[in-house]
Amino acid sequence: MTQSNWYNINNLDDGVSRILEAHVAADWRCNIWHVRGRDRDLVIDTGLGLRPIAKEITMLAERPVIALCTHSHHDHAGGLCQFETRLGHVAEADIFANPTRESTVANLLEPQSIRQLPYEGFDVADWCYRAAPLTGKIDEGDVIDLGDRVFQVLHFPGHSPGSIALWEATSGIIFTGDTLYDGILYDHLYHSVPDQLCKSLRRLREMPVSRVHAGHFNSFGRQRMQTVIDEYLVGQRSMLCPGRTSGD
Ligand SMILES: [Zn+2]
Repeated sequence: MTQSNWYNINNLDDGVSRILEAHVAADWRCNIWHVRGRDRDLVIDTGLGLRPIAKEITMLAERPVIALCTHSHHDHAGGLCQFETRLGHVAEADIFANPTRESTVANLLEPQSIRQLPYEGFDVADWCYRAAPLTGKIDEGDVIDLGDRVFQVLHFPGHSPGSIALWEATSGIIFTGDTLYDGILYDHLYHSVPDQLCKSLRRLREMPVSRVHAGHFNSFGRQRMQTVIDEYLVGQRSMLCPGRTSGD
């Protein structure tokens, strides 16, 4: 059995589209971002990659594409192996190249996480994404140039050691991965460091952001960004909530 319409595409403003895996439960369904550029396009995060994304979304096959993962977790990096140009932070290069269910937190997936069989023989209990060795290791200050749009790499450790954001200074758009989204932030994973996440969020809070395109759920503006960060910093929105108190 195979599925058509595995991927849903929603075109937003500013040449940005959001792609969603229709049959993945919301808590593990990351936003796959597509940004059109003059010379090349950028894909930020790649979903679980259970179906061939470049084959099923024609706009990804028509132009040169840089695929960049905000971090190596299975819900963001699963489809990375399908792209020729694969960028990620140096601190997680080993995970991209040698992924395991534990290192990519795929062991947290549950049967109800995947609502339709993506391909014959798929079993959520032993699935792990295919190795996707990085073709370029990126770090703070590196630049992704699409010809007419330039994105700056910001290192925001905390959710994971190599979490990054992509910042377009001219538009104020930022792609934050799992460092910030409008939900409960995952700071409890095996390589999460909550204090680092707080530091990264404080840095983000002061940036002149106009639009946050997050790793999960809907996009939002600067005011909402600051509210969500403030709520996290006082102990709300944390998976480790019992261990954190207000008055940080
Ligand atoms: Zn993550």
